[in-house]
Amino acid sequence: MAIAPPPSGPSAEDEAMILEVVRDLVRERVAPRAADIDDKGEFARDIYKLFAENDLLGVPFPAEYGGVGGSFLTYVKVVEEVSKACASSGLMIAVQELGALAIIIAGSDEQKRRYLPKISSGEYIAAYALSEAGSGSDAAGSMRTRAEKKGDTYVLNGNKVWITQGSVADVITVFAVTDPDKGPNGISAFVVEKTFPGFKVGKLEKKMGIRGSPTCELIFENCEVPAANMLGPEGTGFKTAMKVLDKSRPGIAAQALGIAQGALDYAANYARERMAFGKPIGQQQGIQFMLADMRVEVEASRLLLYEAARKCDESSPDLTLWAALAKLKAGDTAMKVTTDAVQILGGFGYSTEYPVERMMRDAKITQIYEGTQQIQRLVIARSLVGKGAGSNGSAKN
Ligand SMILES: Cc1cc2nc3c(=O)[nH]c(=O)nc-3n(C[C@H](O)[C@H](O)[C@H](O)COP(=O)(O)OP(=O)(O)OC[C@H]3O[C@@H](n4cnc5c(N)ncnc54)[C@H](O)[C@@H]3O)c2cc1C
Repeated sequence: MAIAPPPSGPSAEDEAMILEVVRDLVRERVAPRAADIDDKGEFARDIYKLFAENDLLGVPFPAEYGGVGGSFLTYVKVVEEVSKACASSGLMIAVQELGALAIIIAGSDEQKRRYLPKISSGEYIAAYALSEAGSGSDAAGSMRTRAEKKGDTYVLNGNKVWITQGSVADVITVFAVTDPDKGPNGISAFVVEKTFPGFKVGKLEKKMGIRGSPTCELIFENCEVPAANMLGPEGTGFKTAMKVLDKSRPGIAAQALGIAQGALDYAANYARERMAFGKPIGQQQGIQFMLADMRVEVEASRLLLYEAARKCDESSPDLTLWAALAKLKAGDTAMKVTTDAVQILGGFGYSTEYPVERMMRDAKITQIYEGTQQIQRLVIARSLVGKGAGSNGSAKN
């Protein structure tokens, strides 16, 4: 069922309905595909189409630019619900948002009209290209991709790596150095379409988890980007990139929370049924304590995440901190809870016949991308002891 909100965006009741639709779709269409998506390691176009048909790719996009106009809180709940069953599918929704955020934050009205309706509807797949082989956490300090102005065009040269959905994307937000003498203030943001001359998809990564989400290298060889595709003034790209991460980290926290909840649900059901020493293992106090600790971590992650999402909705000045708190807690919870879920299933937990080993592999990435857990700690520490904490100010924070 497609969601057709009024131009002002959906009401609280509409948002509850969106989540009902998502739960039904996840149960009937996504969960049965999850193991196969992981096994084949391919972008699941059927699931992408399903999300597009049900208006799930543009939940938090402004209604005036073709989005659903939903709250950020609803958006993270959608990612959480999908990720309970399939982290690769949850990531599709989160990365559509990630790829569009720089346009929402820094784009002109014309740029928003040109791109957002197509990304929101799913006609365009979006991606976000900040990282390079030598520039991950230190995103600005070591960036090498150059953009040089020639008339009405910027010519991009360089390589981006680890780009989620890069191989299937129609539009990519790309960050490149326009003035190498200005450090972070010499970086600019561009919308690059896959048809622009000089744009090429490079090597696809073979990964531990989120195997249904393609991750690849992008190559720019004298890639011609119209100057009209620069987002915001020249030199503001790094600030935009960081503002994007403030709003996209809660999406990753939602993916992590969903993975953790999915693993906890599976492990609890298993513990109720699996017999050992004449009774269900869930009647053994050692297992009960594990399950109780898992529940605490999951609920604590949820509270932090929903608070961070509210901060997004309010454009709160302490959003950077709350996004880091939520991402750090949910990512670590996903790793711990999925590892414990594998333990509760014993040997069966280690088998691909059961979903928890996939969940454990999928959980790991939530501690790495969109700023590693160490970078989240730096951000949090800065709120306590000031800017001196951590690296040189060009890190992903
Ligand atoms: C599957 C996948 C998908 C991705 N998708 C995208 C995407 O769509 N777009 C994009 O732009 N990027 C993407 N990335 C890149 C990701 O954001 C980076 O891998 C991440 O930011 C870490 O950078 P790095 O790998 O270069 O590690 P490094 O920065 O080299 O870090 C190595 C280790 O050192 C630690 N470290 C670094 N600096 C500090 C410090 N100051 N203090 C303490 N510890 C520190 C790190 O935490 C880490 O443990 C993706 C990565 C993966 C694996």
